[in-house]
Order: sequence, then C-alpha cells, then structure tokens
Amino acid sequence: MTVQEKAGEKFVYDFAEGNKELRDLLGGKGANLAEMTNLGLPVPPGFTITTEACRAYLATGREPDGLTGQIEAHLEALEREMGRRLGDPQDPLLVSVRSGARFSMPGMMETVLNVGLNDRSVQGLARQASSADPDSSGSADRFAWDSYRRLIQMFGKTVCEVPGEQFEHALDEAKRAKGSTDDLDLDADDLRGVVEAYKKIFAGHTGREFPQDPREQLDLAIRAVFASWNAERAILYRRQERIPADLGTAVNVVAMVFGNLGPDSGTGVAFTRDPGSGAQGIYGDYLANAQGEDVVAGIRNTVPLQELERLDPKSYHELLDIMARLEGHYRDLCDIEFTIERGKLWMLQTRVGKRTAAAAFVIAGQLVDEGLIDLDEALHRVNGAQLAQLMFPRFQLDHDFAPVARGIGASPGAASGAVVFTSARAVELAAEGRSVILVRRETNPDDLNGMIAAQGILTSRGGKTSHAAVVARGMGKTCVSGADGIEVDVPAKRFTVGGHTVAEGDVVSIDGTTGKVYLGEVPVMPSEVVQYFEGSLDPAHVDNALVRAVRRIMTHADGRRRLAVRTNADTGADAARARRFGAEGIGLCRTEHMFLGDRRELVERLILAATDTDRTAALAALLPLQRQDFVEIFREMAGLPVTVRLIDPPLHEFLPPLEQLAVNVAVAQERGEDVAKEEALLAAVRRMHEENPMLGLRGVRLGLVIPGLFAMQVRAIAEAAVAVTRDGGAACPEIMVPLVGAVQELETVRAEAEKIIAEVVGDSGVEVLIGTMIEVPRAALTAGQIAEAAQFFSFGTNDLTQMGWGFSRDDVEGAFFWRYLELGIFGISPFESIDRDGVGRLIRIAAEEGRAARPGLKLGVCGEHGGDPDSVHFFHEVGLDYVSCSPFRVPVARLEAGRAAIETAGSDSR
Ligand code: ADP
Ligand code: MG
Ligand code: MG
Repeated sequence: MTVQEKAGEKFVYDFAEGNKELRDLLGGKGANLAEMTNLGLPVPPGFTITTEACRAYLATGREPDGLTGQIEAHLEALEREMGRRLGDPQDPLLVSVRSGARFSMPGMMETVLNVGLNDRSVQGLARQASSADPDSSGSADRFAWDSYRRLIQMFGKTVCEVPGEQFEHALDEAKRAKGSTDDLDLDADDLRGVVEAYKKIFAGHTGREFPQDPREQLDLAIRAVFASWNAERAILYRRQERIPADLGTAVNVVAMVFGNLGPDSGTGVAFTRDPGSGAQGIYGDYLANAQGEDVVAGIRNTVPLQELERLDPKSYHELLDIMARLEGHYRDLCDIEFTIERGKLWMLQTRVGKRTAAAAFVIAGQLVDEGLIDLDEALHRVNGAQLAQLMFPRFQLDHDFAPVARGIGASPGAASGAVVFTSARAVELAAEGRSVILVRRETNPDDLNGMIAAQGILTSRGGKTSHAAVVARGMGKTCVSGADGIEVDVPAKRFTVGGHTVAEGDVVSIDGTTGKVYLGEVPVMPSEVVQYFEGSLDPAHVDNALVRAVRRIMTHADGRRRLAVRTNADTGADAARARRFGAEGIGLCRTEHMFLGDRRELVERLILAATDTDRTAALAALLPLQRQDFVEIFREMAGLPVTVRLIDPPLHEFLPPLEQLAVNVAVAQERGEDVAKEEALLAAVRRMHEENPMLGLRGVRLGLVIPGLFAMQVRAIAEAAVAVTRDGGAACPEIMVPLVGAVQELETVRAEAEKIIAEVVGDSGVEVLIGTMIEVPRAALTAGQIAEAAQFFSFGTNDLTQMGWGFSRDDVEGAFFWRYLELGIFGISPFESIDRDGVGRLIRIAAEEGRAARPGLKLGVCGEHGGDPDSVHFFHEVGLDYVSCSPFRVPVARLEAGRAAIETAGSDSR
C-alpha cells in the first residue's frame, strides 16, 4: 500500500514503510510492527503516527498542519486493503489505537481496542462473525456485544476519564445476577445489558452520549494517547527510569483481530527465553477466548503456553517458528504479544525483552554459542551495574522465608537487623554493636546519622530518587524504599504490615535488589559469582551457565581493554582478595590506618614532642611497624606496582575528640589524679583545631611542616621493598605525595625522599618511583610544571570533585543533594559518577599538559570513581593508563574497561 503524502512533514507511516531503526520517530512498538511486517510475518495492517506529531500536539494543544489529512489518507488505504470501512454498519473495520514510545513504559500509557463499533455496527460485526462460521451464531452475537462493551469501557476510561471501577462494578453486577464469577458465562443478552449500563455510566460521567461516529472515536482516541504521555504515572515512571520527558509517544492504528471469537481463539504473551535465568525454552501464558489485556490483567487463569500445542497445534508450531525467526533476526531475547483468531495466528507486538542481570550474562553467552553474535557484541550487551548486582551478598532463602512486603530495590545488598524508628536510636544501638535497620515513612537530612549507623534503610514512601534512596546509594548501604503496605507509627515505635506488628528491636531483613522485606533474620551468603572469583565455588557449580558466561565475557573484556585495573587496598588481606578479583597492582595504599589502634600512643608522642629528640624517638618507634605493614602488602602484590600514599589526614584526627578530652581532664582532676598528659593533649587538640580541616594542615603540608614524618615513611617503604625483593618477591613501590598544588611542594619532598631512597636501595635493584596525586584544582591547572617533578600522576577524584565544586563531601549528600537531583542540576551525584564537564575537564587538562611536559607520564585514578561504570568509560576516553577501585569493584572496572574499548561512539545501551 502506498500513500501519496501532501507536501510538508510526514507524520504518518504505514507499517510497510517503517523499520526497527526508526524507534525515535515511530516508537518501539511501531518500529517493531513495521519490522515484523517487512519480515513477512502475520501482522494486522496498520499505520503509525509519529512522536513528532505527538510533540507538536502536546506543545500547541492541536493537531499539526497536515496530520488530519494524512490520517485520512492512511485510513482510506487501510480500508481498501481490508475491504471494509471503519465502523461500516454492515461489515465494520475495527481498529486498535495504541501508544508506543521510544523506550518501553509497560502499562504506563493507553490503548483503546475495537474502535469503530457503535449501536449499528455491533449488529454488522455479529452478522459477519456468524457468516464466517455458521455454527456459531449464538456465540457471534456474544462476541460482538463483548467487543462493544470493551470499547465503551476502554474509551470511557482512557479518553473521557470515567473512573474504571464504575465499569468494573457494572460487570460484576451482571455476573452476580448470573450467579457466576467468570465473564465467559455472560451471554449475548447479558452483555447487551452491560452495554446499556456502560452507556449510562458514560453519559452520567461525561454529560454526553457515547460517540457513535467511528471517525470521531478514532480522532478522540488518538488525542487521548498523545495526552497519556503526560499522565501522572507516566511522568513518575520516566523520572524513575531516567527517560527524557520530551520524547512523546507514537500512536499505532492497527486493524483489529479477535481473540474473543470463541474457544478456537485466544491471546497470549511469550518470551523466547526465560528472562529470569536466561534458560532456553519457551516461556509464556495463553488465554483462550479473550482479548487484549485479559492475559496480564489476571481476570481469568491463563495456561502455560505449552498447552497451546494441545489446543491448536498448527498455530503453536507456527508461533515457535516465528519466535525462532525473531530471535535470529534481532539476535536477542524477544518478548511478543499475539492473538489467535479462529485458528489463525497474528503477531501484535515484539521487542527485545527486559531481563535480569543473570539472564543478561547467560543469554549473551548462549547467543555467542549459537553463532548469532560475537564476543564483542556479548560484552557490549552486559554491563558493570549488572555484574555488581551479581556480586552482592544474597539471602539464603532455602526455607520458610516469605516476604511480608515489597518495595523498590533502591540500593542493592542484603541486610538484617533490629528495627529502629529514629536516627538517635539507630546510633545508640549501633554503638552497642547491634546491627540495625532504620525504618521511616521517608527520610530527611536529619536522619543522616541514623542512616550511617544503620545496616539498611527501609521506607514506606518514595521511589528511586527519594532522599533515602539517593543517600543510601551514595553510602553503598542497602535500601528498600516505598515498601507497599507498611504503616509506620513512629511515636508508638512500631510498624504494621499485612497483619503483623513489628516493634522496635524486632529483627527484619531487607533485600535492596529485589525490594523484598522479610520478618526475622535471613542468613546471607556470598553470591555464586563472588565465590567463583574467589576460587571458593563448589566444583559442581563451576560450569553452570551463569559462571561460564561470566568467565567467558570477563576473559574477553580483559583481552580488549586498554586500561589496567588496580585496587585500593591498605592491608595484605585486601591486597590478596583484590588480586583474586583480577587487580593488577595497588593504585592507592593509604597509610593512615598504620597510625591507628595500638599505634595511637606513638602518634600522640609524635604530636606532643617538645624537642627534636622526642620527635625523632617517636618516629623511630613507628618506622619498624610501618615497614612490616609494607612488607606484607609488597609480598601479596609481588611483581605488580604498589602506589603508597604518604600520610594525608590532619594529625588531630588521630587524637581523641575535644569534648572527650575535656571530660577526662575534669574527672581526673576531681579525683586528684595526675593530669599532666591529658592536659597536654587537650592543649594540643585546642591548638590544632581547624574550621575547615579538609582545607587545612594535611597532605603534603604535613610533610613540609613536621620534620622527619615523610622521611620515616619513605624509609619504611624503601626498606620493605628491598627486604621483599631480597626474598625474591620483586617489589615495585610508587611513592605518592598527596594534596600537592604547586610544583615547589613536590620538589621539596622529592629532594629529601630521593636521598633516602638512594641510601636504602643501594644495589638491590629496587626502583622506587615518586609521583603525586592531582586532586587540588591548581595542580590540574599547573600540571605541566608539576610533571617536571613527578614520575606519575594519580587523580584523586574525590578531593578534586570536592574542591572543584566546593562541596564538602561529608555534608552535602545528606544535606541537599536530593534537591539538586530533583531540580536536575545533575542526574547523579558527582561523587558517584565523574562530572565530565567540570571535574572531567580538569582531568583532561592535567593529562594533556602533564604528558606534553613528560612523554610517557603514567596516569591513573584512585578516587571512588575508578569503579563507577560511566566514569571508567570517561577515563578510557581521556587515555589514562589505569583505574584503581575497591577490591569488590575490580571485576566491574575490568568489564567496563573492556566495554569502553570496544564501544563505538553513539551506540545505544538501553
Ligand atoms: P501495551 O503497550 O500496554 O502492551 P498494547 O498496545 O500492546 O498495550 O495493547 C495491549 C493489548 O491489546 C495487546 O497485547 C493485544 O493483545 C491487544 N491488541 C492491541 N491491538 C490489537 C489488535 N489490532 N487486534 C487485537 N488485539 C489487539
Ligand atoms: Mg503490548
Ligand atoms: Mg584526597
């Protein structure tokens, strides 16, 4: 069918004119209906009105010029093809009017079926149905009236906002009168009565009769579908799924086929593989003698699709053939909607189906085996967020645990603990060493301390962008938000859910991936994928489909990636674990924990040292302890680079808090004890107090102010490296100076360090690099100068973000980020994912100017961003040599670095 378009914009496409690449214009549903049409599959004819037409309509409140005429022309062509006219009283053509946006928004927008029926054409439809099958005259009447009542119901609800319950009540009433609960028991007369009742409802609510003009029905339905783009639930869904608000929806007008024509008709949905596990096979539901949404609406019990083989073997086998063809064509898992009209199969929808993280890996692996995609494509189709999901600990749900509520999986993980309702109580119980779950209707910035203290957060309101969700994700804490059916009563310190009352102190378990809430403590275990990485997986499972797919795709990612992946690790144990996860060295070894625990006393001595001799003695006592720490780490990472950061935090962080010291002093004085030491400490704390410690005496500034401090650390590193190397371990230390803003700072530290290194290393063969963090904006902007003195740069993106934006990291996320997200100032916290435009620009400048000054300068990143998928892609683009992240994130970074390497610009990952 070809249609001559009037000059001007083309707003309407016949199914034969479109294809699957035109999703922006035709929406997913329209583009795929066109694709199936062109594959020669049995799709009822129809046409698609573009998203552009929708946008124009929504902007101006009326049809754009030319649209009405184009619809007219396409409708005429459809009528010619079908040999029927829309709503013809003798033999009516009926159509469905269906929404369909660029991104699938299941159930969010509207569809109207059976457009074209009215008081006269309903008779014609019945006559046609019975003449096609003369044995069925009674059921033909029934079918026609059933279709008519459906039209009034859907049209009323969708187009005229008649409350849906009113129709449902009327239908229930008719069933009750019949003594039945199944609408199949209603005969033609009953349904005629339902139509009368529906019309009254319609007129009562709208003040007008149900429109009898088929063309008016069509036009109103099209407008209603346009408008459904801005329905409240659609807006909420888009916000949640981060779908842009300005895309608009296409409208598909499709010739009706009928699944409600009798027992040899029906309708169903199917997946070409299991979207839960990825297992091969046919998954679906079928419902005989039914139309449209009946399958998913749960009004009658569906049967598994396999039953169709018995009911209608011909259609069943045709369906299997088509599903196989679709998979071959889309080279992916497809989901489909179909209808059988008197033994004839019709395809009504297909799309590449949504799936779980596990299924994504398994299916990608299978498709490679089947020769449908190559390994690059398999790698492209999975992502780090999915891999991270597969690595979260999970509940061991073998027995007896049924969820009592379900909310939104807002921040993944599995957490159990005692329920508390206030931030203060969370802090108290956590201080006693209890694991707690903070339960609130919704959280606000006052809850921050409680959220930090809690193992998990559960709210009864709010979605994925609520305060609770945003803050929890930022903290890596498990969170379930908007849990349905939970009534929180804070004053009474309890919540109720489905007949259970849960009081403060009772234990619950929440699953931040599935959003499920359980009563009691559900035991947790490491996921199968983590067991595999750690080498602790039961050999019986090593070759299961998921592990096999993960192994294969990870191997491919490793082969492809250009970025190396290191880890942030401060202990030998962390280093060993990260190595099992594939870390190729340490990008950040923090030395501050080496000043904690039983070493605090030495640090106090250092801080209080009144003379050079005192200070030198304190440092000398610390030296062997530090050396031993480094020996352990170098051993675990033998042969691989280890970047050690010299001490970074302000020294007063190692002293007790001011209030505590003041109390100690007072109490001791009261008792008449000797308080000389406490008083000295108190005085030191007062002296060292800073208004903005993050911008105060820390990092390289400490090294320049406190004689011998950095020298002691450099000596410990060099001596440890020599010791490990002499034992055959090949240590490769890289000394990293934090918080440098000017090359002179680095030069001063370096001159001293080089002397010590030369003296310690001698002829041992150990090579020690000296480099700097780039985390102060001034360092990024003077990178060309700094590179003269640095053998490597490591971007400290946490501080660079903090100082670049002027955001105090410890304060802002809880205080106001939720508002910034709401306003769209950023779509994700810049501490979570790198701010490409601002902080990213600093990184680009530093990388370029650093390398220009010193060709081959080694560049890495050691902030939290090193494990964030999107940031990894950015670091790849900028040309860094490696990223470094926490041990658990190492596999995620490896995968994303591989994906970054194969990805071509502009590819579509949704
Ligand atoms: P959704 O986007 O919510 O899935 P659809 O536009 O796919 O809505 O319509 C819902 C259901 O209505 C379809 O699955 C199909 O069963 C039925 N339907 C839509 N158009 C037709 C048609 N032309 N003939 C028969 N059934 C249809
Ligand atoms: Mg559908
Ligand atoms: Mg820093």
